[in-house]
Order: sequence, then structure tokens, then C-alpha cells
Amino acid sequence: MRKYFSVSIATLTALFLSGGVFSGRPARAQLARPQTQPIQYAPEFVAEIKKIQQAALASDYAWSQLAHLCNNIGPRLSGSPQAQTAVQYVAEQLRKLGLEVKLEKVMVPHWVRGQETAELIQFAGMAPHTTQKIVLTALGGSVATPAEGITAGVVVVNNFDELQALGRERVAGKIVLFNAKFDQQLADNGFPGQAYGQAVAYRGGGASAAARLGAVAALNRSAGGADYRLPHTGALRYADDAPKIPAAAVTTEDADLLAHLTQQGEVRMHLVLTPQTLPDAESYNVVADLKGTEHPEQIVIVSGHLDSWDLGRGAIDDGAGVVMAMQTAQVMKELGMRPKRTLRIIAWMNEENGLAGGRGYAEAHKSEIANHFAAIEADLGAGHPLGFSASGTREVLNLLQPLSVILQSQGAGVTRAAEENGSDIGPLGAAGVPTFAPIQDARTYFNYHHTAADTLDKINPKELQENCAVVASLAYTLASVPQSLPR
Ligand SMILES: [Zn+2]
Repeated sequence: MRKYFSVSIATLTALFLSGGVFSGRPARAQLARPQTQPIQYAPEFVAEIKKIQQAALASDYAWSQLAHLCNNIGPRLSGSPQAQTAVQYVAEQLRKLGLEVKLEKVMVPHWVRGQETAELIQFAGMAPHTTQKIVLTALGGSVATPAEGITAGVVVVNNFDELQALGRERVAGKIVLFNAKFDQQLADNGFPGQAYGQAVAYRGGGASAAARLGAVAALNRSAGGADYRLPHTGALRYADDAPKIPAAAVTTEDADLLAHLTQQGEVRMHLVLTPQTLPDAESYNVVADLKGTEHPEQIVIVSGHLDSWDLGRGAIDDGAGVVMAMQTAQVMKELGMRPKRTLRIIAWMNEENGLAGGRGYAEAHKSEIANHFAAIEADLGAGHPLGFSASGTREVLNLLQPLSVILQSQGAGVTRAAEENGSDIGPLGAAGVPTFAPIQDARTYFNYHHTAADTLDKINPKELQENCAVVASLAYTLASVPQSLPR
């Protein structure tokens, strides 16, 4: 996942907070909107959707593709050789399925992680001639410290208001830690996106807020729920009106330590961060079409993002979303089926630290926006799917009720209105294209998200199949439903 600051937070908040959770059952919708006629699909259409659902539930194609992306290619940060190899690999695999494949060029940031170490060299009660190690990781896009590092006192704040209250006098020359806690209880109760949205603001904007008051570096408590002393990386955003200072995420355990020790007296840290920002690199969205039989000019996008952070292997974020889209094409080929509209599989580039792929696509295709019938993105891992979310009016969900009835057989019969359904398809959504995403169990997603532990073993093969079935059935339904979507 997800998400590039305001886009991401808005997306997640919308996804989890938007009202209108309602069942896909016709009876309930009729109660709520007696004027709405329940939609029925032709029996052959229902049978086709069920065939696709069952084929996806039984296939190991997505799993084997995900294993290759994660284990053979590895992490796929924008601009890296692995990202480039992944582009070629996914393009080749989609060509093998008979799709018409194009690589659409985008320029992406090329940031490379360096050394990242920190230790406390002064704190209350310290044993003579010792230090304490602090586990941290640079935020994507961070500038470097000098090679020998910086040494400064540490101040801890819980939020932006506390920072402002300290003022320049007590912040200048210091390393500021934003100690905003990830609300695990919120996540455990089905609102992981909102918990993430609350915590991630400090990762995105903390460095510039601290720099405006003269801080020499900024740290944030990892935006996620993990234990095991794992730091969570992610992109930061430097404001134009503030000096750029180095920034890193510390583990939750080390954030607690710093909060504890700074209450007892002066704490000084030696911090070394040596990432480099290289010139922007040429990269690509992989765009692959399975032409529609009746309306080939109308496009239904099925997508995930191919780039990932560099610490892990990009399994939950977002190799899973890419292979769900690939699986959609694979079941169509396996069953010898073609949709009425064109199915366009997209593996987006640069969701994590720039959104160049999503923005570039919307710009390059803006004259054809009216032909974009719908866009789906999966970017919240591969936990058990509960249904799907959709932008737009309730009429859209009403039109898809027969699909929800089918998906209910696998426990995925919920539908929900959500204005944003994925950062890469956000620009299309803003231009009026109806957007969709699977609704997933993401209670543990933020334990691993953007950490070294985003690895293949975090994906349950059966739950990946369930997601593939939701995405493929939804994609085929959208691509072949006789009605047009209100927009
Ligand atoms: Zn993602």
C-alpha cells in the first residue's frame, strides 16, 4: 500500500469510513430504495461469472507469479534494476497469455538507501563508555547526514501542536522525534486504514515541520502495528518553504525508549544516514489489453502496483495486487472467454514514492477518459476478501448486486460505497471514471507494510485465491454487463 500522503490517507479513510456499508442482497436494497428495480442478469451471464470465480479459486497461477516477483526478482523500488526486470517480466508473462502489451514510459524518482545507524551517546544512568543502539530506517526521499553523521540532543513530541508549543528556542539544533502511536485497537476492530492515516501524517510532513523550527533531523515512530523492533519506511514530502533535513523512522520500541529517557534528562544521539537521490530514471507502466468482443474501445482497468519499498520483497505491498490482475487475464485464457469490453491489465510504477505511473497514465490518456468504463485496483494486501467497494452512486452497487450474490458463496458478499479505491486509479476517479477495490481483512497488514518482513510467507495462498476470484469476477462483470454505469 498505498499511499502517497494525502492521497493515501484520504483513500484509506474513505475506504474505511465512508458510510453506506450495505448488503448486496436485493431485498435489503429494495427496502432502502423502493423505487429501485432489482437487477437481474441473464442466466448465461451468471454462469460465466461463476465459472470465472471457480477457476480463480482453483488456480495457483497468481501464487507462482507472486513467488517469482518476490523471491526471484526481489524488492522493486522505483528506478532500481529489480523494478526494471519486473516490468519486463510482467510484460512477457502477459504476452504469453495473448494480451496486447505496451510499456508506457514514466519518469520516476531514483532514491537509493545508504548506511543507517544511530546510537545514544548521552542519557541518564548510562554505564560509562557505552552507547545504546537505536534501530531506524531512512524515509524514502530523505537527504543524507554528512558521512560521519550528526550528533545532537533529542526532543520528543506526540503531535504537531506539541512541536509548535516547544518553539524554535527548544527545537533548533535538535533531532525531533514525532512519537504518534499507531492505534492497534482501531486496526484490530476493522479500521486499519484509519489507524494508519492517523500515524502517517508525521512521516509525510514531520521533517519539514521540524525544519521550520531549526531542527537538524526528524524521526518518526514507525507508522504501523508491528512489534519485533522492525522499522517501517515510507515516503516523506519536503515542503518548498522549509530546509531539507534527514529523516528516518525508528521502531516503536526505540520510540518508547527515547520518550522514557528524555523525561529523565538530556539525551544525545549520533545519527548516520547516507541515502542518495540520483537523477530521475525512465520506467514504465505495463499496460496489457484483452480486446473486448463488442465494445473494444471501452476499457475496464484491473490493476496493482509493481514497485515496492526496498526493505522487504513487496509481497503484500503490492505484488499481491499485480498478480490478482494477472490472474484475471489468465482465467480468461484458461476458459477461452472474452469480455464484451476490453480488459486492461495494468502494473503501475512508482505508487510508493511519487505516483508517477498513475498520474502519467491519466495525463497520457486524458482524451480517452470517457472510454474508461471502470477501474479496479487492489492494494491492501491479500487478506480474506469481504466484498468490494465502489465509487459513485448506489445505482452502481445496485447494478452489481447479482455479482454480490455470487460472491456471497465465498464470504465476499459485502458492498460498500467509497470515493477512492486506490492511489494509482485516483486520478482516473477524479476525472469521473468509476473506481473499485476489493474489501480485505487488513487487520495485520500494517504490521508488515513497508518493513523488511513484507515477504511471500505473509500471503496465505487460499486467501490470495479468494481475492483473485473477487477481482476477476468483478472485472469480468464490469467488462460484460449490458448496462452502462452511471457517472
Ligand atoms: Zn501499495
